[in-house]
Amino acid sequence: MKKSLLAVGSVALDSVETPFGKVRDVLGGSATFFSAAARFFLPVSIVAVVGKDFPAKYLRFIKSLGVNTSGLEVAQGKTFRWQGYYDYDLNSAKTLRTELNVFQSFDPKLSASHKSCKSVFLANIDPKLQYSVLNQIKSPSLVACDTMNYWIGTQKEALLKLLKHVDIFLCNDAEARELSKEYNLIQCAKWILKRGPKLLVIKKGEHGVLCFSKNFLFLAPAFLLESVMDPTGAGDSFAGGFIGYLASQPKLEEQVIRRAIIYGSVLASYNVESFSLDRLAKLKRPDLLKRFDLFKKVTHF
Ligand code: AMP
Repeated sequence: MKKSLLAVGSVALDSVETPFGKVRDVLGGSATFFSAAARFFLPVSIVAVVGKDFPAKYLRFIKSLGVNTSGLEVAQGKTFRWQGYYDYDLNSAKTLRTELNVFQSFDPKLSASHKSCKSVFLANIDPKLQYSVLNQIKSPSLVACDTMNYWIGTQKEALLKLLKHVDIFLCNDAEARELSKEYNLIQCAKWILKRGPKLLVIKKGEHGVLCFSKNFLFLAPAFLLESVMDPTGAGDSFAGGFIGYLASQPKLEEQVIRRAIIYGSVLASYNVESFSLDRLAKLKRPDLLKRFDLFKKVTHF
């Protein structure tokens, strides 16, 4: 059977302000950024919901990326909205507004083909929803999950229940600290790895990522850019490159995981060069591979 990847998460209308510009109600959401990055490695399907107000041009756009949208429901009500602000410290978004809207009553029922997917990414959304999607998948061989402070603050128990069934967990440094109540990131990693995941990736924005497992540690910087416009979606596009590459490979060995981390970092670096998905949409495979090679060159010693 051909490999494919299923992602549940948000499809959103984002309003974002950074020191370099401002946009209103543009396409965003964790599942959107994730799938726009993961599509470079294997076919991706999304499970999500939008409201009747979701612009038809955005739906066409997601389809034009080659993402399977048969699991994207259009429900009565308004689309999920997020409003964020960044000052010159582009590493941390200040959330000004989160409107769950149609996600509040979303109860996804997976199709037969989605249920038989082997790789699943539970992108940032309510952990109860992540759990409900995971529960419907027959025999997943790779389960990865992301979250954010919003859910650690409001749904911690549900998140801990979910983590027991997750192979790979991704979060940023502040979230790792908030979840574990530890300050030191090695202690955070030990705490999290005891709760289910075999692999933990802690994202540190422009300072790169830390990848922990019981057997090895891998540290990677972020790709150094001359211009960053908007970090929104960096974590999700990182996850798309990382999990997309992993899910396309026959075996999850250390070398493959290391390469996957670099693919994730390269995709995130393209994403932050523009607002919304503008840069990711134009990205071509040769550019991706070129930056991957350059990454190797500037970090090798
Ligand atoms: P990132 O910058 O990778 O952490 O992700 C930013 C994206 O996450 C934005 O496009 C938002 O629409 C989406 N987002 C923000 N808050 C939430 C939330 N509480 N649940 C799900 N998605 C969210």
